[in-house]
This record gives sequence, C-alpha cells and structure tokens, in this order.
Amino acid sequence: MISEKMMKLTQNSSVIRAMFEEGIRLAAIYGRENVYDFSLGNPSFPAPDSVKDAVMEILDSRDPMFVHGYMSNAGYPEVREAIAASLNRRFGTSFGAGNILMTVGAAGSLNVILKTLLNPGDEVIAVSPFFVEYGNYVSNYDGVLKVVPADRTTFQLDTEAIGEAVTKKTKAVILNSPNNPTGVIYSEETLRKLAAVLEKKSEELGEPIYILSDEPYRELAYDGAVVPYIPNIYRNTFVCYSWSKSLSLPGERIGYLVIPSEADDAQLIFEAASIANRVNGCVNAPSLFQLVAAKCVDEKTDLFGYDTNRKLLYEGLEKCGFECTMPQGAFYLWMKTPVDDDTVFCETAKKYNILVVPGKSFACPGYVRIAYCVSKETIERSMPAFEKLAHEYGLK
Ligand code: PLP
Repeated sequence: MISEKMMKLTQNSSVIRAMFEEGIRLAAIYGRENVYDFSLGNPSFPAPDSVKDAVMEILDSRDPMFVHGYMSNAGYPEVREAIAASLNRRFGTSFGAGNILMTVGAAGSLNVILKTLLNPGDEVIAVSPFFVEYGNYVSNYDGVLKVVPADRTTFQLDTEAIGEAVTKKTKAVILNSPNNPTGVIYSEETLRKLAAVLEKKSEELGEPIYILSDEPYRELAYDGAVVPYIPNIYRNTFVCYSWSKSLSLPGERIGYLVIPSEADDAQLIFEAASIANRVNGCVNAPSLFQLVAAKCVDEKTDLFGYDTNRKLLYEGLEKCGFECTMPQGAFYLWMKTPVDDDTVFCETAKKYNILVVPGKSFACPGYVRIAYCVSKETIERSMPAFEKLAHEYGLK
C-alpha cells in the first residue's frame, strides 16, 4: 500500500497533466491542427545552437571521467565560479563559487532550500495565484503553506497582507517574478515595500524570514522590462534559478540556488543545502549540463517568438471581449472568466477544442491561464474558436 501522503497526491493529481492527456485524446479525434492546447508550460522554441555546440565541444575535448563523474554535491567549482561571475557582471553582486549550488532545475532548488530550512509545522507564505507545485514542495518537508492573495487588480504583491500573514512559525516567503500564471513582474517599489515589512517582522520575531525567489522566467521579460534582482533589495534572499525556460532545456533538469554571504547563517545554510541535495536523492545536478550551462551562461534568450505570440493572443482575446492582464514576462496570459466558475468555463472551452487551465489550480478561481508557448499558427487558428466561446457567453 502506498503512503497516505502519496495517496492524497495521487488522487489530486495535477489538473494541468490531465489537460495534457485530454489534448492528446482530442487530437486523435479532430486532428492535431484543430486542437488548441494552451495547457502546458513547455517551451515551444528549440534550445539555441550554442547549447549543441557546447555539448559537442565538452564531449570532444574533456576527460569523460570528469564529464560524467561524481563531483562535490554543490557542483563543479569552475561552473559555480562562471555563474557567480556572470551574476556579478549583470547585477553588481559579489558572489563566488561558494554562493552557488547547482541543482536539478528550479524545482530541485526549491526542494533543497525548503528541506534545509523547514522544521515540521513551519510556515511558508505563497502569493496566489501561484505555481501549483509549491504546496507539494512545502508539504514534502511537513511545512504549512499559507496563501496570501496578490492585489486582484494589478496582481502585484499585497505587502500589507503578507505582513499580516506572518506568525512566529513563518520561515519564508516564496516569490515568483516574472510570474506563472499572471505574467506580472514585481516592481522594485513593491519589492522594497515588502523588504521593509519583512525586516520589521524578522526583528520582532528575532528570527530571519527568508525570501525564496523562484526565477525560471527571469530572462523572459518583454518591452525592456527590468526584473529587479531581489538579493540587492533584501539581504535574506535565496534565488532558485533554472535554464528550463530561458534556454528551452526543461528535460535536462539544470538550475542553481544562490545563497548570498550576506544572508543570516549563510555558511551553515550552504553546507546544509549541499547535503540536502545529496540526501533528497539528487546527489548533484546533471554533470554534462552543468558544464554546458557554464559555457552558455551569457547566452541571450530569443524573445521574438514569445513576444509575437503574446501580442497576438492578447489583442485577439481583447477583441473577443475577454478581460486579460497584459503579460510583462514569462509565457502565460491570465484571463478573467466571464462566469464565476472557471472549471465550468474550461469545460465549455473544450467544446471548441480549446484547452486552458482553471485559476483554481493556482489557488485563484475566476480566471484561466493560457500558455502561449505554442506555435504562432496555433494562436492564429484558435481565434475563431475563441470568438465562438466569447459569443456563447454573450461578450462583445
Ligand atoms: N517554478 C515555476 C514558477 C514554474 O513555472 C516551474 C515550471 O514550470 C518551475 C518552478 C520548475 O522549473 P524547473 O523545470 O526549472 O524545475
């Protein structure tokens, strides 16, 4: 018999995955080109050529015992040094290899830091809508997720509400900007307000409250939008980064965790996090792709395709009469449903072969997430279907 925890998880298995399966089923009936599957956040553009070049060069030029061997649980020192140097160039930080821990994607990074910090019953604040896995990650370490809604008009942080949610059990606040699912980027002004709130609360509690900045979409920011680097705003910040989206490498499972020296207990946390990486069964991040990441560390993300999709989708849906938040980053569009029940709306959308994810899955009913990491043609072909859907709800 499986554990009670896994039984619950198995029964509540991800809505997004279920949608994906539904897409496959509909495609078999109506043909792939007639199904508009906006359910998954899988990058739709291939990794840049520099990734393949780096793989070939590493395999050709380096000792296979080095490339495929075990290394320190934190990762290859030369890779961590290269990442630290790149961050220092970009954000004026002064990191070294000792601040960077290579992880199995941002998911691995979040799990490592949560395992490192949490005692059973400790609380972690997440801002809704949020990436559905946060609840599972926190529960992995018997922590308690406390949900604080974002401002419902701008989807920026409600810093006062976050402050009010802090208790003596609060260990951390997870932030995700650019945000999945809203596409919002948290402004420097808002982050500074939050920093002031958390500093005051930490002082009152006599214990630090850490920010865990989950940043797989950092490079996906449009119209020149700046994504503030939170360690420069709040000392007790750990950054969970990955190349899953920026270099289209989600299957390679490569990312890192930043533990700035300025954070409270930084050295102890770094040592514990290296052990957490090992004992959670990852041991270390994938070796070949650590070396690839170091070679591609300054590679620019090609935003043109996503930006084109973003504008096409936003303009098309607004024309249909839907109410949308213009995404500033990531590759998701957040749309208000014309009925209160977003699950009913998603079922109705399926009649027109449109697959979108209900806001309920992100702890924010009344909305849907539309992932536009699809082909431009899918968006163009889906518009008549969205028009019919809008018509059914009497929009326009
Ligand atoms: N955090 C957010 C907000 C995400 O959307 C995702 C993946 O979609 C992840 C973390 C996990 O990313 P990774 O593939 O780097 O583990």
